[in-house]
Amino acid sequence: MALTETVPAAAPPAHEGILRRQSLRESAARTYARSLPIVPVRARGLTIEGADGRRYLDCLSGAGTLALGHNHPVVLEAIRTVLDSGAPLHVLDLATPVKDAFTTELFATLPGKLAETARIQFCGPAGTDAVEAAFKLVRTATGRDGLMAFSGAYHGMTAEALAASGGAQHTSVVRLPYPYDYRCPFQTGGERGADLAARWTQSLLDDPKSGVPTPAGMILEPVQGEGGVIPAPDDWLRRMREITAARQIPLIVDEVQTGVGRTGAFWAVDHSGIVPDVIVLSKAIGGSLPLAVIVYREELDAWQPGAHAGTFRGNQLAMAAGAATLAYVRTNGLDRRAGELGARMLDRLTALAAAHDCIGDVRGRGLMLGVELVDRSADADAMGARPADPRLAAAVQHACLERGLIVELGGRHSAVVRLLPPLTITDEQAEAILDRLADAIAAAVRTTPGPTGSSPTTMRGTSP
Ligand code: PMP
Repeated sequence: MALTETVPAAAPPAHEGILRRQSLRESAARTYARSLPIVPVRARGLTIEGADGRRYLDCLSGAGTLALGHNHPVVLEAIRTVLDSGAPLHVLDLATPVKDAFTTELFATLPGKLAETARIQFCGPAGTDAVEAAFKLVRTATGRDGLMAFSGAYHGMTAEALAASGGAQHTSVVRLPYPYDYRCPFQTGGERGADLAARWTQSLLDDPKSGVPTPAGMILEPVQGEGGVIPAPDDWLRRMREITAARQIPLIVDEVQTGVGRTGAFWAVDHSGIVPDVIVLSKAIGGSLPLAVIVYREELDAWQPGAHAGTFRGNQLAMAAGAATLAYVRTNGLDRRAGELGARMLDRLTALAAAHDCIGDVRGRGLMLGVELVDRSADADAMGARPADPRLAAAVQHACLERGLIVELGGRHSAVVRLLPPLTITDEQAEAILDRLADAIAAAVRTTPGPTGSSPTTMRGTSP
């Protein structure tokens, strides 16, 4: 599909009417629809076409769901095959050939040690439900209650998943520091920062008066996605694995967003070689349709029949689309491709950061990339970090949309521009994405005053 977008003189009434009715009828809690006022009507690969006739490069990809982009032919074919076969579409958690094939394909991709004895639980079709299931599983298996999670985490919106996330307001989940180089709580960053974070965790567990009883489990993301695209160092992940294993604490790794090749390995845990006790999976495993599972060591399988039920655990179309997606990523080495292309894109983002002092940090792993926008007029801390600039980030997102590029914001202050393109993008498409982003940042910088009321943010080197 061509990358150029057509811009009609005025948006057609259908487009405007749909958006107007949406804002009148839908909940105040709606999210993406606020910052991305588009009406998708057709999509293929990286490209979405709106009811306004414009084309957009979609770097949101259904919040990281679309490993193969929109409407990939192998996904459509898998869905059509199920539809044409007359198979039941709704089967609760009964066995079917489609489910059997999905499970076989999924197990073929898992870290070897886990796959040997893994058990799978099909959950209600959202990442958050699988997170709830993981907590229930480890609580039953250990007989303990507490949980450990990390600052900046995102695990979903149901009660327990939210309690384990960075945005929790009332929670009994113990919060641990996540290694975040740019805003290191210990003001050191790098290996030292990660080492101190690990020591803090260890001391909480080993100090009999820390006030933290041994938990039922620890949950972490190998790369914090919503938290602002923060990849955990492999050594730190190995430390977390050692610390939890030595104390018989199940380690739950949330790969809802990082899974299926996104970070440059099939599963993000493959980079460090750690084998979690439980992996939480959703998003890409359903090949763009809703599906969520947990996969865990058989020793943990101590819960009772019905311990985690749910009506919609048997989505046959999602399982077929998911199996096709997993197989396509595996056989075409799209995980490696994501790693290589992501590294090149990160190089270009690093060059962009050198040209703009409003870019505090660029980071990522594979095709999970982030650009943290900061207030250049504010003083930097001892580590060189400046306060986040959410207003500028929103202006960049808006300027991207005007240039036919859909990006998501994330991070603690919604000041990180996130890129989550499909793993199938070409080199040329990657260049087009970065060209539009660079142009959008330059435009936003020209027009957005700094948050402290200072003059518009300027290009690096041209500031007074
Ligand atoms: N875990 C992670 C790491 C996620 O990124 C998300 C969603 N962004 C979730 C869990 C929750 O998934 P869902 O929105 O499908 O409930």
